[in-house]
Amino acid sequence: MENTILRCQQCNELFCPTHYDSYPTYDFDEESKSVREIEMDDQNVFRTAHEGHKISELHVINGSFCSHHAYWEPVREDYVLATDDSQTYTIRRWRKDIDEPLRYQIVNLQIEFGKPYFQVQSSELKKQMIADANTLKLDGTKIEQFVESFGSFVSSIKLEDTLECGLAVNDPMVTYAALKDETIETFLNYCYSMFTHEELKRLRIFIDENSSYDDVMNVRVIRSFRLIPTNKRFIPNPAFPLLLSMN
Ligand SMILES: [Zn+2]
Repeated sequence: MENTILRCQQCNELFCPTHYDSYPTYDFDEESKSVREIEMDDQNVFRTAHEGHKISELHVINGSFCSHHAYWEPVREDYVLATDDSQTYTIRRWRKDIDEPLRYQIVNLQIEFGKPYFQVQSSELKKQMIADANTLKLDGTKIEQFVESFGSFVSSIKLEDTLECGLAVNDPMVTYAALKDETIETFLNYCYSMFTHEELKRLRIFIDENSSYDDVMNVRVIRSFRLIPTNKRFIPNPAFPLLLSMN
């Protein structure tokens, strides 16, 4: 999502500049039987409509994007926080039809973020370890033990013990995180009583080879959010009292 959104302080309307704004559209001209290029500049349309009004820039707050729609879904509804440095706004972005442009609006809703939690990719991890059983030189029981230990170890770590390294394509509320080097060391110490020194050496290699992006040693970070209505009403900028009274 773009980082800057324009807001007309008088009308409270938004426009999100993108690099598609000045792309032309094409139309078939019946008379000349040819395709006509129609020049477009959506940002210019917005600025003309709000000529003489004060336009401010809102900056999207990193990590505040929330949605139940996959990134690739064209018909969607998302929420994000943005600030003009003096106030923070909740912005709704949506499109009801595939042919419509994305719309932006400041809404009287507060985003309440749930505490993120980890999910271990247990079944994927087990499958990968079974596939690598010959290299790992581990039997089914030891594999089971490793997967279980990893699950209980992860339940004791914090977000700071990991490095987020990828997005889940189908759910914007899910990311993938790799365990930091020192966290992996702690985990291997945790496994010390269950595995031999040689087994731990092979497990260390297995961990290193399966810790990129959505690999099986990486954990899913699940986030949730809730929208709570606020009673805040849009108070027009006092710089424009005259114009407003004419509406
Ligand atoms: Zn305006």
